Amino acid sequence: MAKTTRITYRCSFCGKEQNEVQRLIAGPGGVYVCDECTHAFTEVLANAESALALPAHTRVLTAADPYKEKVGGLVRCSFCGKSREQVNAMIAGPGGVHICNECVDLCLQIIEEERNPAAHGHAEQTHAPSSADGVRKHLLDVDDWSASEIGALFARADAMGAALARPETKLDTLRGKVMVNLFYENSTRTRVSFELAGKKLGADVTNVTASASSVTKGESLIDTVRTLQALGARIVVVRSSQAGAPDLIARHIDGSVLNAGDGWHAHPTQALLDLYTIVRRLGPVRGRRIVILGDILHSRVARSNIWTLTAMGATVVLCGPPTLLPPAAADLYAARPVPGTDARREVIVEPHIERALEGADVVMALRLQRERQQAGLLPSIREYSAVWGLTPERLKLANPGALVLHPGPMNEGVEIDPAVAYGDASVIEEQVTNGVAIRMAALELVAGADQKRGE
Ligand code: ASP
Repeated sequence: MAKTTRITYRCSFCGKEQNEVQRLIAGPGGVYVCDECTHAFTEVLANAESALALPAHTRVLTAADPYKEKVGGLVRCSFCGKSREQVNAMIAGPGGVHICNECVDLCLQIIEEERNPAAHGHAEQTHAPSSADGVRKHLLDVDDWSASEIGALFARADAMGAALARPETKLDTLRGKVMVNLFYENSTRTRVSFELAGKKLGADVTNVTASASSVTKGESLIDTVRTLQALGARIVVVRSSQAGAPDLIARHIDGSVLNAGDGWHAHPTQALLDLYTIVRRLGPVRGRRIVILGDILHSRVARSNIWTLTAMGATVVLCGPPTLLPPAAADLYAARPVPGTDARREVIVEPHIERALEGADVVMALRLQRERQQAGLLPSIREYSAVWGLTPERLKLANPGALVLHPGPMNEGVEIDPAVAYGDASVIEEQVTNGVAIRMAALELVAGADQKRGE
């Protein structure tokens, strides 16, 4: 039987282990906050007098505290990445961890609803249902997808691809259904791709962008969702800079939610379309060496890709500057076997780029997430590109016929040389094209669950 490693997670503020508290909520890059700290923070944010309740080395930052870290950039929330100027309050914990008032609120909502789902009027909706019966109500991440479920979705994507080749026909899978693209972060590819997918399936598609909606007038996420629901939305596709936002919406809506990227957390349809593109070119990925290169720490694309690639038996090699690699990544993934099996997920961390690329079958270059960088993680963009850029010379180390992927948008000349991006090995355009078929298959999947509920 495959060996699994037990890992203990701790609250980054009070240091308590997961079994000492009722709930530990994970942020990106290995930060956690427990239910006890969430309650203490809520109290102290409402009433400064209760500061005594805070754990040691934890306090609310005041105007007297510097807005910049000792070395380099702004003080940012370790959960959503917002700076102090962007939020009302920030709490600092030990070792440079921070949490903003908005993330405290979000964590409190999650904890309270888990404790008492009925009180929130959606007792049956605490989690996306398992796929045991071949339907999923939501698509929030791919961490619990099995190889057979992925295979079944790809078979449907093939059928959708065939339908897309007949531009004159529309399918009626989503006829009469309102689908809303709720985008709190910029996007071209993903938003347009979901829009085309929804329209091809016959849905009435509306796009809501943060700047154009009431969000700029201070409407909360839940209020927005209630409004959309009142207007008849059955499917909400959401992108947000806050990890966990799609999950929160899923708990407040009767319809289905598809995550189009949340913070550093997940981007499930991107991972599915990436794998689909690889499989269509190379066949099964079992035993293949797939290198994910670059800013892995901030990448929701990398996180979701690791789940799907390892579920199909590929070995994933994570390569990037040590400051941009999630700590203990290999152990974290290995600790969660592929659903329905005891197969260990094969993840290798290799910070040496030449060694990582040697013998690779696929190289997935990631965008350097400039908007999410924190102080001191990178010496300079120039140095990053010199050491970590995917150049034609470096690509020669990979296997003949190796594929190059990039989720877009590309920083050409930073993480990828244009000669590689537009060279023979590149399947970047195919990724974009395949995205529509994959999103159609994903929409059909959740629509199936919606149908079942209506029966
Ligand atoms: N478009 C992808 C995402 O939304 C990749 C990126 O932005 O770097 O995560």
